[in-house]
Amino acid sequence: MRKAALVVAGVMIATAFPLAAQPPGADPVLAARERKVAPHIWMIEGYPNAFIVTGSAGTLVVDTGMGTPNGRFVAQAAARVSRGGKLYLAVTHEHPEHAAGFAGFPPGTILLRSQAQQRDLETAAPGLLARFRQRSPEWARLLEGAEYGKASELFDHDYRLNLGDVTVRLVQVPPAHTNADLVAFVETDGALISGDVVQNRTVPNPIGSAISIASWLKALDEVAALNPRLVLPDHSAPAGGDMITEQRAFFVDVQKRAAAAKRAGRSAEELLGELRGVYGGWQNAQNLKRVADQAFSEAG
Ligand SMILES: [Zn+2]
Repeated sequence: MRKAALVVAGVMIATAFPLAAQPPGADPVLAARERKVAPHIWMIEGYPNAFIVTGSAGTLVVDTGMGTPNGRFVAQAAARVSRGGKLYLAVTHEHPEHAAGFAGFPPGTILLRSQAQQRDLETAAPGLLARFRQRSPEWARLLEGAEYGKASELFDHDYRLNLGDVTVRLVQVPPAHTNADLVAFVETDGALISGDVVQNRTVPNPIGSAISIASWLKALDEVAALNPRLVLPDHSAPAGGDMITEQRAFFVDVQKRAAAAKRAGRSAEELLGELRGVYGGWQNAQNLKRVADQAFSEAG
């Protein structure tokens, strides 16, 4: 267990949950009080971090937490900090801890979803919900009657949301963590809500059927072009825009090592050992196996 404290954009953020947490050890019950991390953004720290963007004419929530009880918790926080107007909801991807809390939101919540997320929802999500319920009795309880909700609006790649004095761009990036990852760029605050696409010294988890490291790098190019000053990931601590550079360097290094391993006739298992030596200290180091296998299969 590790506790980290860092200063972001003049705001002190002390993380109070085990950063190395991953299923099934992670506690998906959100309990932290929302706190301001940027002029118009509030963060509920937990598994996962959820975010609330408050504009003069509306409020956007990004990620629901797992199941209806967590969705209700996040919606209550949004009501506390809202400055009026409509309530919008978007999710970074369709994994249950990010997206299956819709039923906890009040009637009239406007659910914004990309076409890619809709496709992912129809194919991968039902099986995932069943698997998550099997993880523990608590997870099953949280996901009782869980709903992803019906999209109020479906968009293709880029959705510009006007919240009065705050504008947000929802961007559907190429397959990265899943087949359908979304990031939310709060233009007014220069802040990127990055989901699993950009994480802070955390080994990425390439898990979708259509993902590749090459494609994840394309996703990073897209988010880098937004040029955020602050990056707000869903499973690690916020930090500056150089988090994107660091994430990119990780993948490029892994690709190089995978190609070298293949040329030298070494195995994916040996590549994994090498990666553990370099990145074993990062959060979620258990994901290195998936990364090594993926990189090895892609290496020419
Ligand atoms: Zn996920």
